[in-house]
Amino acid sequence: MDKLLNLEKDAYFADRDSAYVDPYYGLKKLIYGNKRFAQNKSISPRQTEADLKNTKLGQKPFATIIGCADSRVPNEIIFDQGVGDLFITRTAGQVMAEASYGTIEYASVALNTKLIVVLGHQSCGAVDAAMKLPENPPGHVVTLINAIKPATIKAKQANLSDSEELDLAVTANVVEQVNLLRNLEPLLSRRFESGELLIVGAVYNIESGKVEFIEETITSLPKFKNMAYND
Ligand SMILES: [Zn+2]
Repeated sequence: MDKLLNLEKDAYFADRDSAYVDPYYGLKKLIYGNKRFAQNKSISPRQTEADLKNTKLGQKPFATIIGCADSRVPNEIIFDQGVGDLFITRTAGQVMAEASYGTIEYASVALNTKLIVVLGHQSCGAVDAAMKLPENPPGHVVTLINAIKPATIKAKQANLSDSEELDLAVTANVVEQVNLLRNLEPLLSRRFESGELLIVGAVYNIESGKVEFIEETITSLPKFKNMAYND
């Protein structure tokens, strides 16, 4: 992955405009930002009062994040990004339904954001709840359980300890969601296949502060139109 993304060992910064144009560069920007956060070197960019009140330029977020609603996973903080950088939709277990799809498509079509990251996290309560398969989940919680269930079934087949099983279910859930978006008709699937959009998955580790991108969602991607790193 380091070679694919052209990651420099001692680098911590990537240019914002390049990240908006090239999704691979955007990925690099997120990786460097998370590296700053995990190493206690955050710079909290573009977060002044002036940044917050600046409406003249509109918005050009370089990444869409589909993350968990968990209060311990604040996206701008863990990626060390600022106002106008990330377009975010969050639900428990980052489960998606019609309104989320519309939100994600809007970012792609109207804002021209080329990078989508599905971000799961270690110790996810929603995935844990789905692992236990409660018989009568309260109210609409059943929607979350049903959406996460296929990943938990996969994880249970692996014969691991409880915590390893949960980690595996978290990753499997992200991979399922990445595949769902890559195949989502009519917009995202076409944009992904034609190389206009990069859709990848990652898992955030609350203890270490590190975001690990899932290898199988990074490799074997379609060639990108604007790609600088396609060999
Ligand atoms: Zn969660």
